[in-house]
Amino acid sequence: MSKSYKIGVIKGDGIGPEIIDEAIKVLDAVSVSQGFNLKYEEMLLGGAAIDETGVPLPEETIKGVKKCDAILFGAIGGPKWDTLERHLRPESGLLGLRKEMGTFANLRPAMVYDELVNASSLKAEVIQGVDIMVVRELTGGIYFGQPRELHQDMAFNTMVYTREEVKRIAIVAFDIAMKREKRICSVDKANVLEVSQFWREIVEEVAVDYPEVELSHMYVDNAAMQLIREPKQFDVILTGNIFGDILSDAASMLSGSIGLLPSASTGKGVGLFEPIHGSAPDIAGQGIANPLATISSASMMLRYALGENDAADKIDDAIKKALSEGYRTGDLGDYDAKEICTCTEMGDIIADYSSK
Ligand code: NAD
Repeated sequence: MSKSYKIGVIKGDGIGPEIIDEAIKVLDAVSVSQGFNLKYEEMLLGGAAIDETGVPLPEETIKGVKKCDAILFGAIGGPKWDTLERHLRPESGLLGLRKEMGTFANLRPAMVYDELVNASSLKAEVIQGVDIMVVRELTGGIYFGQPRELHQDMAFNTMVYTREEVKRIAIVAFDIAMKREKRICSVDKANVLEVSQFWREIVEEVAVDYPEVELSHMYVDNAAMQLIREPKQFDVILTGNIFGDILSDAASMLSGSIGLLPSASTGKGVGLFEPIHGSAPDIAGQGIANPLATISSASMMLRYALGENDAADKIDDAIKKALSEGYRTGDLGDYDAKEICTCTEMGDIIADYSSK
């Protein structure tokens, strides 16, 4: 009997439903050709959940995700919900879900497809061959630290990391580095922040168990500059929640578009797989969103959560083939383009190529 997996699907808001539909189309095609079964269960989160249930993270979703083998997620948020109180906004739902799922490690590859070296705003010689893995701590740091308060004349947040939180994310990064070029750059702000000094000490302690991995440290402001100046110097970047949020978006632009890059959030249990971009309300409903980041996230899900590496390879190869043949969505520009595709057309092409 063929293997069967249960996938929780959270479409979310804005372009979320459009891009997830294409990723499911590709997953269906590849699962049939590779001989395994995928069952989907849709769940609510973010704005769609607020509209339906009044809260951004319904109890049903918290219970539902824990019964799945993996979660495929689109994006949440939009102007419609921007005036709500912080704890009722879509973003609180996503932060809460990550916390509930214990997905403390966010893996964000930033690679440049050879076919798209001209789509980047940087020179081709600077970015050709870039292949970086940003390992971002996801459930700690200033986004979650208490106390946090907003008053009329002042406001504050708290940046806090425990020994265990730093140690476990550092181990994830070192394990990944062992499978890559064995180089880690840990990014912090240790010249100003005590929490970063602490981070550095613990990363050094973990490094003792990985003598083959070369560890360096960099301040976050310099790292932002170096990512643009000479991105090829990086292999694995290990960093905390807020710095990782910003650096991985900057790294994404090396690839030419935020619409290309996937991410995996893993940790203690079920993993969450999602594009790094948001819900793009400015283009929602127009059928022009780039589904490739979400399709790549589905590939990461097959590889890291389900162990279906052949199927993941099929999808990755299909994306490269489509790009090398000149298929582009609008966000990628028209460099070497044979055809500018809609979101659905790009999904059709990748589904077709992945099934062969
Ligand atoms: P965004 O990533 O949604 O969009 C930034 C720009 O990139 C926009 O011009 C958008 O059109 C473009 N873009 C993004 N994804 C694209 C794709 N697949 N194809 C083509 N173009 C794409 O960021 P934003 O505008 O700052 O945020 C919009 C909403 O998304 C906000 O409500 C924000 O809170 C939310 N958000 C959600 C997540 C998430 O769900 N993980 C992440 C970031 C932002």
